[in-house]
Amino acid sequence: MSSIYSRRQPPNPGLGLTALALLLASCVPSPAGLAIDPLQAPTHPAPARVEATRGLPDPWTATPTYDPATPTTQPSPTPSPPPRSRFEGPTAIGTSVAGRPLEVYRFGNGPSQRLILAGIHGGYEWNTIALADELISYLRQNLEIVPPEVTLYILRAFNPDGAARSRSYAGRANENGADLNRNWPFDWARTWPPTGCWSYLPINGGTGPASEPETQALLRFLLAGHIEALISYHSAALGIFPGGHPPHPGSLRLAEAIAEVTDYPYPPIETGCTYTGQLADWAAQNGIAAVDVELSTHYSLDLEQNLRVLQVFLDFQPWVRSTQDQKTPAPH
Ligand SMILES: [Zn+2]
Repeated sequence: MSSIYSRRQPPNPGLGLTALALLLASCVPSPAGLAIDPLQAPTHPAPARVEATRGLPDPWTATPTYDPATPTTQPSPTPSPPPRSRFEGPTAIGTSVAGRPLEVYRFGNGPSQRLILAGIHGGYEWNTIALADELISYLRQNLEIVPPEVTLYILRAFNPDGAARSRSYAGRANENGADLNRNWPFDWARTWPPTGCWSYLPINGGTGPASEPETQALLRFLLAGHIEALISYHSAALGIFPGGHPPHPGSLRLAEAIAEVTDYPYPPIETGCTYTGQLADWAAQNGIAAVDVELSTHYSLDLEQNLRVLQVFLDFQPWVRSTQDQKTPAPH
């Protein structure tokens, strides 16, 4: 059961549009501790698109793309509020099954928003979290490298329960035994053939698409915050995976840019695994340039390479369509 369904016809009656609208509505107003409200107007002049979607964002039609042709500065009859700071964090965008905060750091305050995410596979890929912490530290000391048009978020540990549980196989799933990279409402399946896939311990895609609180929190954040590009770090060794089936143009362009500054395999190594419910594929389907990047081992940070990836990601222009985008993506 891995059919790709229409964006307007989610297949699981347990998470229909009404339920998802309620889910999205539930993040407004913020619960205690949720300092980031992506639906809140930023204090800098906002793109017109933000105003137009301030109600309940529809995840099946949301197109979180930045249109550079849209004027971002409008004459205002009232004095503008002071610009928000260029650093904020940690801020919780939600909580895990066991109640641990999903912590996000923000760097810069520009209109083009993007996200680096680590630890989707918990303690089993603990080195991605260690890398995220290094990137956070580096950015705090070098905030000037964030271009004025960019806001970069880093979610350092998307599966904090798994990270706290184990640095081995038992640390991969969330507290419900779900794989948080198999729980997204794109080609979702509870189970999949083990051939070529990680199968050291029983694990599943959740009880339905976006059934897990971690997925729900990040889904809200990505759509309501109009994230345009994301990197999700994994380990280990398989390379750089652009999101989408087949890969979407923006995701391909981001993957190619990362491949130019790293020695990670690209196209990625195919193991014959059937991928279902993946974050990057769902994100690409929703207009986000999305890439999975696998570190070279289960213990290395590859910091030098990933500082180059950071610079590429900050310089990436999600809204530029190159001639490459017009070509049919090659299968990877
Ligand atoms: Zn992984």
